[in-house]
Amino acid sequence: MMHPNILNRFDLAGRTAIITGGARGIGLEIGRTLSMAGASIILADLDLETVKKAAVGVGPDVKAFQCDVTDPQSVRDLAAAIGACPDILVNNAGVVRVAPTKDTSDDDWHFVTSVNLNGVFHCCKTFGVAMAERGSGNVVNIGSMCGSIVVRPQNGPAYNASKAGVHMLTKTFACEWAKSGVRVNAIAPGYISTEMTSDPSYEISTWVELTPMGRFGRTDEVASVVHFLASDASSYMTGSVISVDGGYTCW
Ligand code: NDP
Repeated sequence: MMHPNILNRFDLAGRTAIITGGARGIGLEIGRTLSMAGASIILADLDLETVKKAAVGVGPDVKAFQCDVTDPQSVRDLAAAIGACPDILVNNAGVVRVAPTKDTSDDDWHFVTSVNLNGVFHCCKTFGVAMAERGSGNVVNIGSMCGSIVVRPQNGPAYNASKAGVHMLTKTFACEWAKSGVRVNAIAPGYISTEMTSDPSYEISTWVELTPMGRFGRTDEVASVVHFLASDASSYMTGSVISVDGGYTCW
């Protein structure tokens, strides 16, 4: 038997990938990367005009849609608008609020958990279930190192809990759909340079000092791992949470 070319297993030609929160940052970079690997791309984000502008130049076959992942009806409307169920779902939309618990308002708690955790549930309920019924599909969730450790010096109880929930939902869906041809994995990034980490009040120097590699990660360094998980190169992986954190969680 001829040994298959390993690079073919990274090829996403003929597959469609939907990326939530795809208008900027890590989500937009995932769109570019999966497009380079041959996939048709659907970027979904809160503001239609912003995501339409972002879609320009991402690749040859890219569409942009409005979707608020906190609203299950908005997710169902997205599914109806795109028609066929995608092959790949990347649950990337996320928000952060940094404050100690005493200063975390009820609204902050609901805002962060609604996007980061409920959003993953709503998208998997719509797209993941449809993939399982079809018998094929691939889900990649963007968790965080904050889903398994408490970073410092800042705190974010809602963010940490929501990302721990994303990791656990990943394993739950992975087991539920393992025999239905759907793989579900997550990435737990460390500090990545995006608007989310650009607030001038953050203690960036401490973050860098606490990272063994001594620097922030780049969006393409997350996107390439999403590509691996979304492709057949990771065909025996499901329910995994992969750290992409410059070694942060080793210390
Ligand atoms: P950004 O803030 O740069 O981008 C997030 C995108 O998600 C924005 O376009 C935002 O739209 C969109 N979004 C927010 N709420 C919703 C919603 N309800 N429905 C649809 N889209 C929404 O973040 P990053 O690129 O840095 O982060 C991407 C993911 O990676 C997040 O899940 C984040 O938690 C995770 N992550 C990031 C890390 C980092 O260091 N940057 C580290 C670990 C994990 P709008 O601008 O309109 O709000």
